[in-house]
Amino acid sequence: MRKIFLIPVFLILAFRPPHTSINFTVQQLAPHVWAAIQNDKGGHAICNAGIVDLGDKTLVFDAFINPDAAKELKQIAEQLTGHPVAFVVNSHYHDDHIRGNQAFMPGATIISTEWTKTEMQKAEPEEQAWARKNIAGSLQKAKKQLNTATGKEKEEALMWAGYYEAISQSLPQLKTFLPSLTFKDSLWIHGSPTEVLLIECSGHTLSDAVMILPHEGIAFMGDLLFVQRHPYLGDGDPDSWKKNLDKFYNDKTLKIFVPGHGPVAGKESLQTIITYINDLQHLATDAVKKGEPDSVFAKTTVPPKYKDWWYGRFYPANLGFMYEKAKTKQ
Ligand SMILES: [Zn+2]
Repeated sequence: MRKIFLIPVFLILAFRPPHTSINFTVQQLAPHVWAAIQNDKGGHAICNAGIVDLGDKTLVFDAFINPDAAKELKQIAEQLTGHPVAFVVNSHYHDDHIRGNQAFMPGATIISTEWTKTEMQKAEPEEQAWARKNIAGSLQKAKKQLNTATGKEKEEALMWAGYYEAISQSLPQLKTFLPSLTFKDSLWIHGSPTEVLLIECSGHTLSDAVMILPHEGIAFMGDLLFVQRHPYLGDGDPDSWKKNLDKFYNDKTLKIFVPGHGPVAGKESLQTIITYINDLQHLATDAVKKGEPDSVFAKTTVPPKYKDWWYGRFYPANLGFMYEKAKTKQ
């Protein structure tokens, strides 16, 4: 009799390569937790996202900038967990974290802090009106840059071309879906295999939501954490940002940190951002003390330790913002 060898389904699933596409790559962090890390090769995700299996439903943390990329995220999340996406958390109001909301509707409850919802309601009509007027020009400029850039600059130019393309492609069908469940301070969502804690922190904006998985020691930081990239400081509160990062740094239960942008990292990544904010604060305070005009200060070159980081275009804006802050403290 011939022997038939059957490979158990769980072995096939265990060795299945992680999902990857032009938009994002899925990375499993724990039995019920995945990160969807944006690919920087011209894809349309533009920020990272999280997927949590709550037992009978799925939670997604951050929704990308483009509804088509978010549709892919929904499909992959439901494949991984076997349950529909019931909750979508928006970590903050910036377009790259919220515009994919429509891909989860109807069916999902969108969650954010109370402040984020109000800010989203204010900012989105203005941002979308700006985009309708300017996106074609921005995209054309980005494509030109992509054609002329070389080496590392070309790699980043491809990401920015993807960013403008993601906005341009989605605008004709874009609808704003505001959160229908809001919280202040914190919110627990309990599932059967695991549970999540959303914590309101100010820093990158005046209200960001961080998602903690206490049993797994994982923190989805939203844009309170950028890894190997300049963080954008201009909409936030740098002192409070440092305080909040320090609080998570000192939490011994947390081991894995998922940034809003960049690869999954360890605890040291929080200190790097604290140092970055401190460095810019010192530079700005010195410039104000010396009476250096802000126009000159904003042109200060990027310090060597941050030279290899992406999003260098945020650096002059960050300097200008810190200069204004330093002036008010004089
Ligand atoms: Zn942001």
